[in-house]
Amino acid sequence: MTFWRSGHGADATALHAATLTLDTHVDIRWPEPPDPLAEGPMRVDFPKMARGGLRAAVFVAYVPQGRRDAAGHAAAADRAEAMLRHIRARADGARRRFCATAAELEAAHAAGATGVLSAVENGYAMGHDLGAPARWRALGACYLTLTHDGHNDLADSARPKRELGDAESEHGGLSALGRRAIAALNAAGMLVDVSHVSKAGMMQAAELSRSPVVATHTACRALCDHPRNLDDEQLDLLRAVGGLVQITAVPAFLRRVPEGTTNPASVEDMAEHVDHAVRRIGIEHVGLSSDFDGGGGVRGWQNAAESAGLTAALAARGYDARAIGLLWSGNFLRVWRRAEALAAP
Ligand SMILES: [Zn+2]
Repeated sequence: MTFWRSGHGADATALHAATLTLDTHVDIRWPEPPDPLAEGPMRVDFPKMARGGLRAAVFVAYVPQGRRDAAGHAAAADRAEAMLRHIRARADGARRRFCATAAELEAAHAAGATGVLSAVENGYAMGHDLGAPARWRALGACYLTLTHDGHNDLADSARPKRELGDAESEHGGLSALGRRAIAALNAAGMLVDVSHVSKAGMMQAAELSRSPVVATHTACRALCDHPRNLDDEQLDLLRAVGGLVQITAVPAFLRRVPEGTTNPASVEDMAEHVDHAVRRIGIEHVGLSSDFDGGGGVRGWQNAAESAGLTAALAARGYDARAIGLLWSGNFLRVWRRAEALAAP
């Protein structure tokens, strides 16, 4: 047993080192983000990524849901754009390369550089401006999360915000503007992220989008009944449209525990959710993310420096090099390429 364990561990270490590991959802602190070059208080910074063999991450320009008036929309748009510019400026073009396309990410990885990607979280940031996706794409953003917590003018959220006056449902899924926003995202070559969106909105977006939709940070409702998770009907639709579910490291999405108790969720729980999704819709439609610095962090994967722990948990369940490559980045690269290819010239 001891021999098998040590041998197996060595295999997982080599496997991790050989894999293009991409975390598809990482928050940054805003305003006043700490220097990512220094080992600091965040779960993700460049020293931790290097130590943990995390080769690339999508850093998100997260915009909290606020009042849906002209001033609120203008402030949200300004914040998203400033954050996208900041994220791009974190890359130096050499050891850390900003990657605006799947090909650029693969080239960065081949050159031994860390991949820095960006995205926008919360369609609130576009207000009613259908030109926003093309501008964000020009800054290199790879996806837009249609909502956050709280409904916006594009879609209903899986978690309405009562303090903002949200009813359970406002649009019955997507609004008319939300439908046009998806067309604008498709035309710009940006992926549509359906995390945080209500079930009706998610299903409508998956059907409507010309390029496959991605849930960049979520988990399986069949294993943990949380409103942010996707049920089996939603997983089936993701497979049908060629999309992706990225299982994320948020304890409350992975395990239900009595209120007031510490959630013991670990990389084993993440692997359980991966197993469920893979059995249900196939290895080609499942991936991984942390939601670090936005609520993510489980035993065995508390920060970017511990990224090998997740690979080891998956390898221990029999996922081989090909499967682990697909989970960590291969599937995301495939759908990202599809979105790029379908963009209006
Ligand atoms: Zn989120």
